[in-house]
Amino acid sequence: MLELVLPAPRPPTLPVQGGGAFPVRRVYCIGRNFAAHSIEMGHDPDREAPFFFQKNPNNLDASGNFPYPAQSQDVHHEVELLTALRSGGTNIAVAEALSHVWGYGIALDMTRRDLQGEAKKAGRPWEIGKAFEHSGPVGPLHPVSEVGHLEHGSITLKVNGELRQEGNLNQMIWKVPEMISYLSKYFELQAGDVILGGTPSGVGAVQRGETMEAMIDGLGVLVVNVT
Ligand code: MN
Repeated sequence: MLELVLPAPRPPTLPVQGGGAFPVRRVYCIGRNFAAHSIEMGHDPDREAPFFFQKNPNNLDASGNFPYPAQSQDVHHEVELLTALRSGGTNIAVAEALSHVWGYGIALDMTRRDLQGEAKKAGRPWEIGKAFEHSGPVGPLHPVSEVGHLEHGSITLKVNGELRQEGNLNQMIWKVPEMISYLSKYFELQAGDVILGGTPSGVGAVQRGETMEAMIDGLGVLVVNVT
């Protein structure tokens, strides 16, 4: 093997409830997966084909802090179900897809909405709005062996105790097995890949000093301070 010419960065990992760490390979995020959120963003909620973007694995941050990012005056919260894969492949059938799931967690798809809006208008990619440092606050992962598969249940986000986002996992337009199957037609999924499942309506801006409290039934609470 060739000698590395720079020290290799440590692979990003997420803490596991009860101990251990989950190594993250890729981060896929689905857009507009709740009808009410699709409408609030100005789109037709009909079941169009899903679309995905990516964050960087090292954008995920389980520290409980979200440093307000540079170059934006409009940073939004999006609470989402995170699905973590134990295995993968290509052309995975919907009926087989859940066998690839290792576990679930709570994630926030923090978004520089002003920069994303400019990118959308110009037909440019979304990374500048979505894939910045610390843009993916996450809670500990829970293995399927402990929590089962999450097909329904409340998903909410409070800011300073005030309810901002509220939905149910059963309102996801594309369900977890469908997202896995769809992605596997275009990408080779592998162990360590995670998928953020889209956000219910009620997205909005956060300010420094505020506290976000994200909850998904069965996964506890993720508390994140905006610093
Ligand atoms: Mn999102």
